[in-house]
Amino acid sequence: MARIFNFGAGPATMPLSVLEKARDQFVDFRGKGMALLEMSHRGKEYEEVHRQAMRLVAELLGLPGNYKVLFLGGGATLQFGMVPLNFLAPGRAADYTLTGSWAKKALADAGKVGKVNVVFDGTPDGFMSLPEPREVQTTPGAAYLHLTSNETIGGVQWPSFPDTGEVPLIVDMSSDFLSRRLPVERFGLIYAGAQKNLGPAGVTVVVLREDLLARCNPNLPAYLNYRNHWDGDSLYNTPPAFAVWMVALTLEWLRDLGGLEAAEKLADERAGMIYGVIDASGGFYRSPVKPACRSKMNVVFRLPGDDLEKRFLEEALKNGLNGLKGHRSVGGCRASLYNAMPVAGARALAELMMDFARRHG
Ligand SMILES: *Cc1c(COP(=O)(O)O)cnc(C)c1O
Repeated sequence: MARIFNFGAGPATMPLSVLEKARDQFVDFRGKGMALLEMSHRGKEYEEVHRQAMRLVAELLGLPGNYKVLFLGGGATLQFGMVPLNFLAPGRAADYTLTGSWAKKALADAGKVGKVNVVFDGTPDGFMSLPEPREVQTTPGAAYLHLTSNETIGGVQWPSFPDTGEVPLIVDMSSDFLSRRLPVERFGLIYAGAQKNLGPAGVTVVVLREDLLARCNPNLPAYLNYRNHWDGDSLYNTPPAFAVWMVALTLEWLRDLGGLEAAEKLADERAGMIYGVIDASGGFYRSPVKPACRSKMNVVFRLPGDDLEKRFLEEALKNGLNGLKGHRSVGGCRASLYNAMPVAGARALAELMMDFARRHG
């Protein structure tokens, strides 16, 4: 099999060793004569997988004991609604930073639930920059501050986070979760769809701090209330068992790689190669994003003109470099360089970019 380098934004590339392990255990899980897909989520085998996945997220993040890791359905998109449904109580307002396409969706859903304040609006410069964390002023009495740590489409990433004091900080980390070390105690809630950086589609990881439970709206339908998932350790109802298993395998791979410190180093290395080529290209390649907030996960770049962009993407495909077309809403090119992208993939792309610029520059 000739495995390609998949630069797609999500669902995204996964570690080959994880896919192979899953393949080997797919039909006969741990010698039980049936597949995990066929097993009860209340049985011992699945229970072990589930606890292992919870434990590994906690271990990798260095989570204090007052946090729990939850595995939910509905994607990050359901969190856009669940966050305000639980925490945006009547008479309060929530603060939102508007930094790109994903933040916009989170804000729109919150606006349907209650009152929102936009404390940073990146619209005027086309979402090409982020504020300094200390410039983000929360509103006194705000229910929480929501931000999107990495804008997967626009390619901006918060290098560090605001200190929000008493106001809980709630962050959509779908596209950079577990790619770097974090000051975890600063966060009230983190959510991330698995299909970018930690496994397949179908499960969303939520990291929740215990004191937020007291604020959950008790009048929600059962699934929407975080408290039910907390109390049941994400076994309130049938969890997305197969996806959780794939996440567990990916987390083991990440731990063996050296955890978040190693992930951070590799992310710097991969992104450094691509931005390095962009910056050394004499304007042939252009990153639209302000340098201080360039994403290390999704490198967005343009070539001089649609025609060259089309030819570049065709050549990339011929060279086994897939998924480089920018999001349909912004065009251009985008290289997604998540944890599972081998450094060799970033190097192959950097080399093609240099060669292409030499021939067409
Ligand atoms: C992909 C993505 C989402 C949406 O995730 P779904 O699982 O499709 O709901 C939300 N936020 C960010 C930052 C994303 O990258």
